[in-house]
Amino acid sequence: VVQLENVHKSFGTLKVLDGVSFEVGRGEVTAIIGRSGSGKSTALRCIDRLEKVDQGRIRVCGHEVSDARLDLRQLRRDVGIVFQSYNLFPHLTAAENIALAPRHARGKTRAEAKEITERVLAQVGLSDKAHSYPEQLSGGQQQRVAIARSLAMEPQVMLFDEVTSALDPQLTGEVLKVMADLAAGGMTMVLVTHEMAFARNVADTTIFMHRGRVWEQGGREMFDRPQTAELKQFFGNGL
Ligand code: ATP
Ligand code: MG
Repeated sequence: VVQLENVHKSFGTLKVLDGVSFEVGRGEVTAIIGRSGSGKSTALRCIDRLEKVDQGRIRVCGHEVSDARLDLRQLRRDVGIVFQSYNLFPHLTAAENIALAPRHARGKTRAEAKEITERVLAQVGLSDKAHSYPEQLSGGQQQRVAIARSLAMEPQVMLFDEVTSALDPQLTGEVLKVMADLAAGGMTMVLVTHEMAFARNVADTTIFMHRGRVWEQGGREMFDRPQTAELKQFFGNGL
């Protein structure tokens, strides 16, 4: 569903992605780990065309993302992205924040949008908070509303960039639970995370990025037996 082939990206003279290739099949979960500055967010942003690649090819759900003729609207329909900052509209309730996307981007009727909103709120465990405003919600609840808002677009693929980094441990747990449920439900996901236990337990494949390259990748065994000195050091020193 997601394919990157030899992707290169520089900002000025800074080479951030230096020939990145990987594939994520339908229903698979891929975690990206690595030091600050290793290119994790940039790789994710290229998948959703928030950044253009300099060289290489990206295909997502049949869209040629690296092609200049890409239909951005269609890509954004199929790909949901959630960031560390949740950016909810403060003057709208949780339900209103969520209903915006299906109403405006997908042309759903009010009744359809309501049905979708109820379904995704239940999915993130917040049915009882539909009419709360963002400031009345905890950080973890706000992040779950942001995830629900993305799900309301009925995407084929979900991208997550350190969605729990701003949360304290307890709130982190509730957001990770929602993501684990999504994964178990068959959602195709690519997530950048510092939560090593989550990557080890939930991801089918984890990619360790270092200096803009896929330095090492594997399943659970990669956590138990890292092969490269760089990954050993990354695990050893924490972040
Ligand atoms: P972190 O764990 O801190 O989020 P990361 O692995 O996500 O790090 P990226 O955000 O991909 O790293 O950034 C990789 C490098 O590219 C960094 O040195 C960063 O400063 C640089 N960079 C990212 N975006 C831009 C931009 N728009 N303009 C210039 N430099 C950028
Ligand atoms: Mg980042």
